[in-house]
Amino acid sequence: MTQTIFEISQEGRRAFVPPATDVPERPLDELIPARLLRSEPARLPEVAEPEIVRHYNRLSKRNFDLDTGFYPLGSCTMKHNPKLHERVAALPGNARLHPAQNPRRAQGALELMWRLQGALAEIAGLPHVSLQPSAGSHGELAGVLLTRAYHEDRGETRHKVLTPDTAHGTNPATVTMAGYELVKLASNADGGIDLDDLRAKADEDVACLMLTNPNTLGLFDPDIEEIARIVHGVGATLYYDGANLNAIVGVCRPGDMGFDIVHFNLHKTFTQPHGGGGPGAGPIAVSERIEPYLPRPQVVRRTPDNGGEPTFDLEYDRPKSIGRLRGFQGNYGVFVRSYAYIRSLGAEGLKEMSEIAVLNANYLLARLRERGVAEYLPVAYDRLCMHEFVLSGAPMKRDLKVKTLDLAKRLLDHGVHPPTVYFPLLVDEALLIEPTETETKETLDAFADTIAEILREAREDPTIAQTAPHTTPVRRLDEAAAAKRPVIRQPL
Ligand SMILES: *Cc1c(COP(=O)(O)O)cnc(C)c1O
Repeated sequence: MTQTIFEISQEGRRAFVPPATDVPERPLDELIPARLLRSEPARLPEVAEPEIVRHYNRLSKRNFDLDTGFYPLGSCTMKHNPKLHERVAALPGNARLHPAQNPRRAQGALELMWRLQGALAEIAGLPHVSLQPSAGSHGELAGVLLTRAYHEDRGETRHKVLTPDTAHGTNPATVTMAGYELVKLASNADGGIDLDDLRAKADEDVACLMLTNPNTLGLFDPDIEEIARIVHGVGATLYYDGANLNAIVGVCRPGDMGFDIVHFNLHKTFTQPHGGGGPGAGPIAVSERIEPYLPRPQVVRRTPDNGGEPTFDLEYDRPKSIGRLRGFQGNYGVFVRSYAYIRSLGAEGLKEMSEIAVLNANYLLARLRERGVAEYLPVAYDRLCMHEFVLSGAPMKRDLKVKTLDLAKRLLDHGVHPPTVYFPLLVDEALLIEPTETETKETLDAFADTIAEILREAREDPTIAQTAPHTTPVRRLDEAAAAKRPVIRQPL
């Protein structure tokens, strides 16, 4: 077991000893009011610098990350985060900017945010953007609150929000949190929305339909125009869960499909490093009719009447706004990285990014088939996929007694992070694979070989997969207990 930093601690050890001060010392309570001073020293570990470096370096190697190996985590888009973005985010003007800085002295930052809003508006095909929400789920909540504000402003009270059964778990959670009743829509045989079910459930009490297209099966719904007609026909809004936009940037736009509100996950599609809980950003883009309700304040550009230099500001005067969603303006460092990404690729580069994401997913699916894995891991919906696809491990479980979870754990022994498992819920023993555009053909081939090898091994001896992983710092963990009763601090 690795010791904790507190166990390494030895009284009196220091990482750094500053030279003696030549400034006359004054008692602390002359400088800081006594009521703000600690009565005893903070309980901090006392460790020498080399021990600190070794400790955290050791810890970092006990985890799996994108810079270590392939990470085909469907829906969550674990793609390469260009290192240039870190350099830009670390520039003192970005990294050292205080969030309470007067807007007049943060013109560069406000301009960057204003330009990012414009780029996201263009990508979404919707004219107005707020960068405030801090995550995808936060953007969803903003979007549903905007929907409510829109209806209430028209004197309507609606109670229901529709989501398909392929929806990401945050969608139903958002609906409930925003105080709406959740109504589930069935999927059709092609994995899209069942239009008859939608027609039956869409009525004047429906506030919104929340949709992901391509959905979490990696499938594009060709009925999207008809869906938009039905939803708008009953006066409801159409919400696009754009957490994972990897298949469509520069190819098609939610606004053109008829959506009113979109959220983006900058930490998925737009290369903010993520995992481990953040930071992220979940900006929203909206149509003209939703604009009055956007969160406050908005980043705006003002052009003086005399034609002078434009200035950037925070606009608070928004009487119909749903209000503020968080302190300050969002996770600014995320904005810098995503802006750098968008600007360095440009419109053509972004389109190519999406095309290669789709090509890689289809290539990997074809390669897996060629390696003969379909007998145990058939594709759930046999259509051209977008940026991700879903396999079902049901035959593998039945014939080899190896569950999807066992396969996922065995992949760790091969240096591969498992794909998303048991989601979407409507596929039995689901395995949701998103290779992303930044992986090479060699990596995709090696992954297909690894899956084939694990299946071959399981035919001879299923216990190896059933008891995997074997080579990781910890073996199989109690994941439910880890989520429900996490021990996140050193017991005193
Ligand atoms: C990741 C994801 C979300 C939630 O985003 P968070 O930033 O984790 O809150 C919502 N919808 C889809 C489709 C996602 O993939």
